[in-house]
Amino acid sequence: MKSSSIRSAAVIGSGVMGAGIAAHLANAGMRVVLLDVAPTQLTAEEEKKGLTLADAAVRNRLAAAAVAKMPKAQPAQLYDPAWVKRITPGNLSDHLSLIGDADWIVEAVVERLDVKREVLAAIESARRPGTLISTNTSGLSVSAMAEGRSLEFRRHFAATHFFNPPRYMKLVEVVPTEETDPETVALLTELCEKRLGKGVVVAKDTPNFIANRIGTYGMLVTLSDTLEHGLTVEEADALTGPAMGRPKTATFRMLDLVGLDTLIHVVDNVRERSADDEEKAIFARPEILSALVSQGRLGEKSGAGFYRKQ
Ligand code: NAD
Repeated sequence: MKSSSIRSAAVIGSGVMGAGIAAHLANAGMRVVLLDVAPTQLTAEEEKKGLTLADAAVRNRLAAAAVAKMPKAQPAQLYDPAWVKRITPGNLSDHLSLIGDADWIVEAVVERLDVKREVLAAIESARRPGTLISTNTSGLSVSAMAEGRSLEFRRHFAATHFFNPPRYMKLVEVVPTEETDPETVALLTELCEKRLGKGVVVAKDTPNFIANRIGTYGMLVTLSDTLEHGLTVEEADALTGPAMGRPKTATFRMLDLVGLDTLIHVVDNVRERSADDEEKAIFARPEILSALVSQGRLGEKSGAGFYRKQ
């Protein structure tokens, strides 16, 4: 099969990453179904806009639109303003059967093994045999996620780990399990490279794969150094941003963009799967992350994290 035959996709989870991935796929010409659990609570922004809880589909579309806004600096011809019409949003319980139309299903729900397993079981019940399934996990065990699924499912399953924001970050880690067909790896790689304009690295199914293992370590060191030296987050960002050749979204702005709740899952995952106590100590969860999340400061998605939304 060639990547050009992949015409439709389903993205499950319409948060920071799911919405961004859906927008990117739609922009590349695919029809996309974007599903999430029906919300139990409106965000402050949604309340201000007068949305109702029953309006889950609108909420999802808004999320996609917010993430997919294109910066003026990008060449206009790269973007197709019709992309949003190619996204059909909905909630997972009512619209599960729509997955049956998708050639490629991307799981992008919260970074928890139990939730991802449940969602993959639901996907299995609705997908057409032979279709591709990938997870956007930041570094949970891809093999563990696939446990309980049929061999046919597992042969078509791997991780496609996009980076945030998915439209602009070039790297995708493709992470197969021992049971993933080589054809699946080749097709996902071709899809990401040729259709989505990404650069692919095929990584092993180790905790946090390659980039996030290094990135998590770097983030923890910067965080502890900042606290130890009494720097403000603005000062730390000034030091670790454009001055070092990195974009304006330096350390703390980037952490707010990622989501501090997601970051906790990522740090906990790599620590829990560490080889020994020394490694566990390196990946200890910083108290400040727990404190901010317990105050509802999840980063940009909740309006405040290390920074407050301007
Ligand atoms: P998020 O918190 O923004 O969104 C998670 C979404 O999952 C929410 O919309 C939530 O309603 C939905 N969800 C929860 N349980 C569900 C269920 N049972 N069925 C359907 N939807 C459900 O998180 P995110 O940042 O978008 O992360 C999603 C995945 O992408 C995670 O695996 C994360 O580790 C990974 N990831 C995140 C980043 C990042 O920078 N945030 C980068 C790369 C990969």
